[in-house]
Amino acid sequence: MDLALSPQDQAFRDEVRRFLDDNLSDDLREAGRKTGGVFAEFSAGLRWHKILHRRGWSAPTWPKEHGGTGWNATERYIFARECAAVDAPRIFSMGLRMVGPVIMKFGTSEQKAKYLPAIVAGDITFCQGYSEPGSGSDLASLKTRAVRDGDDYVINGTKIWTTGAHVADHMFCLVRTAAEGKPQEGISFVLIDSMKTPGITVKPIVTLAGDHEVNQVFFDNVRTPVANRIGPENAGWTVAKYLLEFERGGEAYTPNLYARIGDVRRLAREEAADGSGRLLDEPGFAQRLAEAELEVQALEMIELQVLSDLSRGKNPGAVSSAMKIRGSEILQKLDDLGVGALAWYDAPFEPEARMLGHNEPTVTPEWGITTMPLYLNNRAATIYAGSNEIQRNIIAKAVLGL
Ligand SMILES: Cc1cc2nc3c(=O)[nH]c(=O)nc-3n(C[C@H](O)[C@H](O)[C@H](O)COP(=O)(O)OP(=O)(O)OC[C@H]3O[C@@H](n4cnc5c(N)ncnc54)[C@H](O)[C@@H]3O)c2cc1C
Repeated sequence: MDLALSPQDQAFRDEVRRFLDDNLSDDLREAGRKTGGVFAEFSAGLRWHKILHRRGWSAPTWPKEHGGTGWNATERYIFARECAAVDAPRIFSMGLRMVGPVIMKFGTSEQKAKYLPAIVAGDITFCQGYSEPGSGSDLASLKTRAVRDGDDYVINGTKIWTTGAHVADHMFCLVRTAAEGKPQEGISFVLIDSMKTPGITVKPIVTLAGDHEVNQVFFDNVRTPVANRIGPENAGWTVAKYLLEFERGGEAYTPNLYARIGDVRRLAREEAADGSGRLLDEPGFAQRLAEAELEVQALEMIELQVLSDLSRGKNPGAVSSAMKIRGSEILQKLDDLGVGALAWYDAPFEPEARMLGHNEPTVTPEWGITTMPLYLNNRAATIYAGSNEIQRNIIAKAVLGL
């Protein structure tokens, strides 16, 4: 760790390391290592969530009153770095990271009591119903309709690219509740309490990497109580934008990026099988790796500032767009270096070796098994959570005033 840690911080880091040593079983570590991209292997992530919850550590960014750790910025960062360094599984965090902060800010006291403790405990999991066919970057044009019928909304329409809709049990969803006025003015933010509600159909979309992570979700007269609306009717756009700041900036990218640098360096330190040397000794490669590391360090400074703001109750604001752009671009740069290393060592592509519990011998050395799947999976990093072009538009408007 490059931070100058105070004696208290060092003691905290040691406590985290002891906890990880004692609680991170080999199979959880395998799941973390083999699915180390953005999307966690769901069941391992949930098991890890519950273990963290028993220790009171499942919600590092939440205030204590809602079951969070109450940690300061440095403690959160130390925790994230230590978890990434030992391949702890990533938690499916749309509840903790996205809708949780939204409920804290806009929810009624009943909604807070109903959802927040269950999210912290990992008893309920959410997926995100924002994007629709034709309404991704232009999100405000969304067409999924919700019409009031007694105490319910009746929802019809479709959402697409819904990560984890096949495993999550709840959804937070943007729906059109008025057709008049500007498109932004007719949107409401509602929660659906079960993905098994009659009328919901989830169809898988298998991605380039061969993973089933995203889906298209269809709504055919799906009922959800009006009491599940967060914020006033037709004011969902404000709620939606608040959530997006947390989606982009509520978590540090750099702990994962440092772990990926470690992977690439490990790859490049290998001796080639034909005795022709190590990739790390190629000056061009070593220079590109060093440049990527410098970029991670620069991003780390921004992230520490944002984490510090968050721990003082300030939301991330437009700087989360800058973090998203830099974090995703550096990740793809490291993936490029990793795949370049596989090519240099003539390692074949054996995607099945990444399956959990796969014990067959592989031609690919262990260090290279996840490199190519992660490269493919992370192609999406510059698209989801709002494409990087859209983030640049936000910076141009909100930061540069253009
Ligand atoms: C792996 C993955 C997981 C996802 N998970 C979820 C999820 O869980 N929930 C959810 O709701 N959504 C999810 N999404 C959807 C994601 O948010 C959208 O794909 C994204 O917002 C882009 O929208 P689009 O796909 O409709 O592309 P489009 O909006 O059609 O954009 C196509 C291209 O045009 C560019 N472009 C569009 N408008 C502008 C503009 N004004 N200025 C400059 N360039 C522009 C874009 O940057 C992009 O390159 C996920 C996407 C992926 C790939």
